[in-house]
Amino acid sequence: MKTKKVIENARRYSRPFRITDGSKFKLRKFDPGETLGLSSEDKPRAKEALENGVQALAELQDVLYAQDNWAILLIFQAMDAAGKDGAIKHVMSGVNPQGCQVYSFKAPSTEDLDHDYLWRCMKCLPNRGHIGIFNRSYYEETLVVRIHPEFLAKHKVPTSLVTKKIWDERFQDIRNFERYLYRNGIVVVKFFLHVSEEEQKKRFLARADAPDKNWKFSASDMAERNYWDDYQAAYEDMIRNTATKHSPWYVVPADNKWFSRVIVAAAVIETLAGLNLAYPHVDEEKLAEIAKAKKALLNSK
Ligand code: ATP
Ligand code: MG
Repeated sequence: MKTKKVIENARRYSRPFRITDGSKFKLRKFDPGETLGLSSEDKPRAKEALENGVQALAELQDVLYAQDNWAILLIFQAMDAAGKDGAIKHVMSGVNPQGCQVYSFKAPSTEDLDHDYLWRCMKCLPNRGHIGIFNRSYYEETLVVRIHPEFLAKHKVPTSLVTKKIWDERFQDIRNFERYLYRNGIVVVKFFLHVSEEEQKKRFLARADAPDKNWKFSASDMAERNYWDDYQAAYEDMIRNTATKHSPWYVVPADNKWFSRVIVAAAVIETLAGLNLAYPHVDEEKLAEIAKAKKALLNSK
């Protein structure tokens, strides 16, 4: 399929899930089981759409790299077992690894805690021409840290600065940070893989039952289920406060992995296509140089 057509299709898939103004955002209006009318019989079509998407993405990435002006940063946030790893793996399967940088953010180290909370993420921002991926990010500072205040205490922020306003202040800082990045040509696009509590239970049970999935089973992930509603409220507040025109959130229905991967691919294509990328212009002088070099090559042994 022609890239232009794939881009059109991508927009159709991704738009319903894109939030560019969070002020009225309500998470309960988004169904984790949504498939836009596609059923599991349509899986082969979804697979084909994903394959076309992955190919189009590779083409767009090639221009991004060649032009070397813009960078995009894809941030993935989700409850455990929502499929962040799989989405990253499938969607990026066709792109040139040289143009891609992936970082996972776990609980902060002692060195991280000795700095401001953006510090460790700033060190991992993508170079121009690259696609950066954050598997979790500074948004954890408004999620797990909000739900477990003991993490906040570890950060050693002066107590006079830790007030009731801290979450609003963090949202403001993040909005400003992402706007700053945009103004520098680094476009931040955020994905919330929205899985239901029932589906998470099924996936945890599969991890407990299947020997090749046992390694993924974690008792601490189980413990976080007790805070399900708190997390949903924190995600909603986060999206409400940080979805902007230049840095949108995509609320990706994640109960069906085949569908969520199509949506993530579509959103990345939509983002790259929106940058109006073009290969660098080759001027007359350069063309003459190439012609001369070609002649010399043809005349050589
Ligand atoms: P999986 O889906 O495979 O479990 P994961 O992203 O959950 O992958 P883990 O190693 O299980 O990876 O978990 C990382 C943990 O680090 C998460 O529980 C997350 O909440 C925590 N974490 C990340 N950033 C912070 C932070 N800034 N402060 C405290 N905890 C954090
Ligand atoms: Mg985990």
